[in-house]
Amino acid sequence: MLSKGLFPNKDVRRLLKLYNNVYALDYASSLLAWDSETYMPVRAASERGLVQGSLDTMRKKLITSKEFKNQLLKVKTLAANGLKLTPQEKGVVRLLLRELRFYEALPERFLQEFNKTTSKAKINWRIAREKSDFKIFKPWLERIVRLSIKKAELLGYERNPYDALLDLYEEGLTTNDMEQVFKALRSVKLLLKKIVSKKGYAPNHELESKRYDVKALRVFNNELIKLLGFDFKTERIDESAHPFTEGIGLFDVRITTRYEGIDFKRAISSTIHEFGHALYDLQLDKRFLGTPLADGASLGFHESQSRLWENIIGRSFEFLKLLKPLMDKRLGFTKQYKIESLYQYFNIVKPSLIRVDADEVSYNLHIMLRFEIEKELINNNLKVSELPRVWNEKMQLYLGLKPKNHALGVLQDIHWSLGSIGYFPTYSLGNVLSVQIANKLSKELKPLSDLIANKDFKTIRQWLKNNIHCYGAMLEPKQLTRKLFKSLKPEEFLDYLKRKYFS
Ligand code: MG
Repeated sequence: MLSKGLFPNKDVRRLLKLYNNVYALDYASSLLAWDSETYMPVRAASERGLVQGSLDTMRKKLITSKEFKNQLLKVKTLAANGLKLTPQEKGVVRLLLRELRFYEALPERFLQEFNKTTSKAKINWRIAREKSDFKIFKPWLERIVRLSIKKAELLGYERNPYDALLDLYEEGLTTNDMEQVFKALRSVKLLLKKIVSKKGYAPNHELESKRYDVKALRVFNNELIKLLGFDFKTERIDESAHPFTEGIGLFDVRITTRYEGIDFKRAISSTIHEFGHALYDLQLDKRFLGTPLADGASLGFHESQSRLWENIIGRSFEFLKLLKPLMDKRLGFTKQYKIESLYQYFNIVKPSLIRVDADEVSYNLHIMLRFEIEKELINNNLKVSELPRVWNEKMQLYLGLKPKNHALGVLQDIHWSLGSIGYFPTYSLGNVLSVQIANKLSKELKPLSDLIANKDFKTIRQWLKNNIHCYGAMLEPKQLTRKLFKSLKPEEFLDYLKRKYFS
């Protein structure tokens, strides 16, 4: 039942009652999406696509229906005329107005064209990547860029058309915000250079080519997430080609991982990453059930949680020391390695071509490159035909590498084929936020490394719950950032890297 304390206003309650059906549709869509990536039989794909499309249409119809819209605008008008709303009620109104604005800005014809184009583009991107042939993907990407520019025009923006697209993934984020972030992060390039020229630097570790027993690592990973606080009564872990987290409901959060049979740190790190995402969803305020507040603040904040656990906690010396006995027990072969060597293995830094394999130092350079390209594409300063050349030039400039082929370069990510232009920057935002969060937590409680060494993950979880998770989507991401740290400070991210790799 809806909390009277959080949502006392009767008009807001009526609005939320109407919203119940949207919540149910989202719940169903989410379960279907999880199933599509895990257990769905292959031949079900196109039928599933049709059903998913219908659910999306039903959702749009509900939100733009006369009844729903009138109720929402009624509350909006009352609030504008002095009606006091609780912060939760304000959050509800803000989020629903945002949804309504989105649906009303984009005509059905446009949405259909966008979806038709991206579903074909995805197929052609796969073929293009397999053959490493940009020409196959080029006409599709040209269409997607054209449609994305149109989308930005339809959605509206103040300064830069790219702002309209960024806002879709990170409410309120602007091109200028990201330019400031990357201005600071640019010096990672020098840091990377310094790290690889350090005495005793090793670009490889023999464990990278060590094969492992998948069953044994599966057992280990389950023990690991249990240690972190994974709750098997409300969460589950499965396997999929690309690890992901699906928060289906407040009592049903699912993660996946992947076992490649070689280089075991990959399966461990990605499991911890998804654990971080899942914890966010699981620690949302349960009183938000049935409301649009039952969600994270933004993609950037979500990624801050996964990166905090994966990198700052999961790759720390204290954490690996804690895991070593368990690792030795389950994997056996790690017994031959000292903890210092394992630490090195988990923290190999080297410039690489593929974003998803990048270490925590070079990662943001991959995002910076994509951000610069997207911005120019959407501002019509760059043609899709010039992309391969520009990609390779920037790769050379930022990472000192030249892709041997387009599969290892401009064709590596799925995002553009899905029409997700504006998504990438949230990864860097997440990295920056993760360090600011770790610093604040350390300052308010005690050093994170001490908490880790004491296996005190409960205290860490609790702090994250009280300071971030409990708000759900109630505050705009920028508001939450201000509340936590006054502002975004990419310098703290740089300091973290310097401390970790130079002391
Ligand atoms: Mg993630």
